[in-house]
Amino acid sequence: MDIKVLDKEIQYLPGVGPRRAALLASELDVHTVGDLIRTYPFRYIDRSRLNRIADITPTMASVQIQAQVLSVRLLGKDGKPVENPGNRWGAVTRLVARVADESGETEVVFFKGIKWMHARLTPGSVWIFFGKPTVFSDRINLVHPEVDNPGGSVSAGVLTGVYPSTEKLKNGGITGKVMLRLMTEALNEALPVIQDPLPDYILAEKGLVPLSYALRQIHFPQDQTALSKASYRLKFEELFFLQLSLLKQKYIRSRAEKGILMPHVGKPFNDCFNALPYELTGAQKRVIKEIREDMRSGHQMNRLLQGDVGSGKTMVAVLTCLIAVGNGWQACVMAPTEVLAQQHFANISKYLQPTGVKVALLTGSTGVKARREIHAGLQDGSIGIIIGTHALIEDTVQFKGLGLAVIDEQHRFGVDQRSRLWSKNPGGIPPHILVMTATPIPRTLAMTLYGDLDLSVIDEMPPGRKKIQTLLVGENKRIAMFNFMKAQIAKGRQVFVVYPLIFESEKMDYHNLELGFEEIVRHFPLPDYKVAIVHGKQTSEEKQFNMSAFAAGRANILVSTTVIEVGVDVPNASVMVIESAERFGLSQLHQLRGRVGRGAAESFCILMRGDKVSRESQKRLELMCRTEDGFVLAEEDMKMRGPGDLEGTAQSGLPIRLNIASLAHDGLILSDARSYAVHVLDADPALDAPVNAPLKAELRKDKYTLRDYSKIS
Ligand code: ADP
Ligand code: MG
Repeated sequence: MDIKVLDKEIQYLPGVGPRRAALLASELDVHTVGDLIRTYPFRYIDRSRLNRIADITPTMASVQIQAQVLSVRLLGKDGKPVENPGNRWGAVTRLVARVADESGETEVVFFKGIKWMHARLTPGSVWIFFGKPTVFSDRINLVHPEVDNPGGSVSAGVLTGVYPSTEKLKNGGITGKVMLRLMTEALNEALPVIQDPLPDYILAEKGLVPLSYALRQIHFPQDQTALSKASYRLKFEELFFLQLSLLKQKYIRSRAEKGILMPHVGKPFNDCFNALPYELTGAQKRVIKEIREDMRSGHQMNRLLQGDVGSGKTMVAVLTCLIAVGNGWQACVMAPTEVLAQQHFANISKYLQPTGVKVALLTGSTGVKARREIHAGLQDGSIGIIIGTHALIEDTVQFKGLGLAVIDEQHRFGVDQRSRLWSKNPGGIPPHILVMTATPIPRTLAMTLYGDLDLSVIDEMPPGRKKIQTLLVGENKRIAMFNFMKAQIAKGRQVFVVYPLIFESEKMDYHNLELGFEEIVRHFPLPDYKVAIVHGKQTSEEKQFNMSAFAAGRANILVSTTVIEVGVDVPNASVMVIESAERFGLSQLHQLRGRVGRGAAESFCILMRGDKVSRESQKRLELMCRTEDGFVLAEEDMKMRGPGDLEGTAQSGLPIRLNIASLAHDGLILSDARSYAVHVLDADPALDAPVNAPLKAELRKDKYTLRDYSKIS
């Protein structure tokens, strides 16, 4: 019954019709009555909270005033008035309206939608304006405020919902007032028959209000308390089903996918562990325990290991590999680039010495003869651990028994490439998987993007790491900065200089890189100084050559775009200079900063700031100077730029559209929803219990048939 009402096409709702239906579909993606009632206000007008114009100050985040239009001016490009524009609306670039309430006067300004605003803001009319105060020529005004009709409410409530809108919608007659009327119609039809996808026991256990109450109150709140309850319930519902759908796949897979049983810790693990020159951190121990539990569970491990740069992920990877070897299996470590693979090989070989386990390196540049030997060693099992690049997944590589694959910096490996590892074992037995990443994805986002992977976090740094001093410097200090670089180089240290390279402004950015490089070469001439440069237009041989020159200490300065290999270790580099730092995201700056501070020397990160940076940017860069916590920075980044923008995650996007919850702001609800979803699935993995029938029905909807981009098998 409810299905019928919710699926009813929106054009048959009284007051809509085919023309408005087409608009609702194209502008808001609303096709049915069900879609409409799930289109929530993004803001509420609270008439009890009007500001007085006289009280407005530029520091207020937003203000809401009810004011009468006194006069309207239309201005052209040159700032001169345009009288009677008639058919010359194109010549008008700005509309300025003087408005007043009983306390004073101010101006509202529009640069877009001028014709439409001109028709609405007739002198004498009264409106509610909502926006952020700005200062222009020493006067406060509101630029592009939202404009609402003060009599626009059709509800008795104090709070009136404001819906997403566009000029096309308004021109098509779907104003805020009309939306409220349509919503009333839709709710009156739907609410009496709507079925709650959350069973009663969940509402009771989580203290949530029922769906029909929540929908009524989200659209027409009777007061703030009811609105909060409604919004909490709807956010919980959204995030709960998101997690439930992701986790259910994981439960199904982990039951179906028999994993390789690795019951022992094994001798190689203990030999390595006992010879460690340091004590593992608490976080490393905890993570190893989590991994160990997975490997002896009889199910396949699919675990994401997150840890800031320098947190000691390599050690965890080594010990994990040794568990596999100790149980009679082989392990591989895949790195995204040749330089990284070499570095892993050098580090890991050191750790393996006390164990006698044989380790080899296989990359694109491995010679024919060596390659043949490695292939043979993998096939007869004499090589216990193999480290390499994409060369590892070539067809010719076969293992005797691959028990574990460690994948470093996962976002550079495609899903297809990873899945090819399966075919490497006789009989296609799936190995355990450990994906490592240093990109500090906020927990809320990781839980969503990798909802079907288990998450381990190393959230503690090894003791004794030196703080990296971060300084924010303007162009006027450039010469001082060069002198500082010289002083560091005189101490035998090396310096990174990084330029932003952004796709949209690529040409300009390369130009800046070239100018910057020339300037540095001028200030740091041969033979006293050697400067290397790495950028995306070089061939991979050129890149490799220059990178290696710097890594081996043959160059003092490395100038580059952001192509610097993620994870490359040059312990002797003590200074990271980042040009136009305001153009990088915080997470990206943090990654770059992590390139220094790896050796014994005191390290520095110098953020060069352009001359014109916004207050927001200045604040972000100051935060960068204050904290070295990658997760704090990632959270901040996400709040400011939204989840889609985080480095390494932009491509993957989010699995479903969130209508009301926000990953950036509703982290607590998300983790609650996730652990509750685990609780529900633990009790009833296939949701077969009659009480869970509504959950099962909800998950059958199209929107939950996710692209399974994070799945590795
Ligand atoms: P990541 O790969 O997470 O960036 P690494 O594994 O390269 O970090 O470790 C960074 C440095 O810290 C290495 O020199 C490593 O030897 C050292 N290290 C790792 N774990 C510890 C520990 N528990 N105590 C002291 N030093 C450690
Ligand atoms: Mg590393």
